[in-house]
Amino acid sequence: MTVCNCGALGEYKDPFNPYSLDYCSSCFSAYLEKKILRGVPRRVRGQHIAVAVSGGKDSLVLLNVLYSYQNELKLPSLIALVLEEEIPDIQQERQKIIQYLHKHYPDLSINIIKYSELFGHTLPHLVTINDSKKLGFTPCSICGIFRKQALFQMGLQAGVDFIALGTTLEDEASTIILNIIRGFPTLSPTQNSYSNNSNIQRLPQRIKPLARISEDLIRIYIRIKNIPIISQTCPYAQRSLRSEITAFISTLKDRDPQGSFLFNILKTKNDSERKTSFPQNTYHCTRCQMISHHSLCPSCRILSNLLKSS
Ligand code: SF4
Ligand SMILES: [Zn+2]
Ligand SMILES: [Zn+2]
Repeated sequence: MTVCNCGALGEYKDPFNPYSLDYCSSCFSAYLEKKILRGVPRRVRGQHIAVAVSGGKDSLVLLNVLYSYQNELKLPSLIALVLEEEIPDIQQERQKIIQYLHKHYPDLSINIIKYSELFGHTLPHLVTINDSKKLGFTPCSICGIFRKQALFQMGLQAGVDFIALGTTLEDEASTIILNIIRGFPTLSPTQNSYSNNSNIQRLPQRIKPLARISEDLIRIYIRIKNIPIISQTCPYAQRSLRSEITAFISTLKDRDPQGSFLFNILKTKNDSERKTSFPQNTYHCTRCQMISHHSLCPSCRILSNLLKSS
């Protein structure tokens, strides 16, 4: 039987830390919270911040920690941004999560917006159009671009300086691998590139306090704190290349339980961003007015492809 420093039963360890102690549930929670807070950049202190809340475990853990440590971080406000793709089963579960947020986080502002309000169509409808016209987008590529855009739009409307995303170590590593496979450039307006046009309002900056934290630790925290999460898997997840990359990431974790492979993948991105960070031209999208590096923003480009008559 292992014993925690506090004398209670030591049930949990951090597999990614070779020097990890055995923790009881309450010391493990404090350990992980400290780790997450270290991922919050110092420049965020005292600023207006929003958390993108999908209803999954990662975003809810991030929200719980930022909400609990609002005073320590000197955050004047905290807003949850909830984007509803309007996928029926997930929608039902998300309603329950929103009720939970209202009950357990009384000082939290919750801004909810539906896909159809922002883009005129639900995600399932856009996927149906894509499939019937055989346009070849995957549901996740449509969803990913629209979600980024929607969060920026919601963040601008709420007047926040930063949007915190619940991107974990595994998510970050799989995105880097996906971008390499697709030949995407390292910087896009959705990352923290900066504008060389001072007349255009700055987009809120995205921060990822969980980017060096494994989802294995997040899962333990969720269990300890008994936070409800959306349990359904998105019906489109299996169609994405990311699901195969996720399986590959699991294999990497089996071969290297301390996660050095994943941290090395992250390092390549940080190195290349340092080399390629440069100011970019920014415009207002000619259709939706959103800030973009092109005259038509990525969402409007996809929408015009989907909706043009075949
Ligand atoms: S699995 Fe794909 S389509 Fe479903 S919510 Fe995630 S990104 Fe969107
Ligand atoms: Zn303890
Ligand atoms: Zn646009």
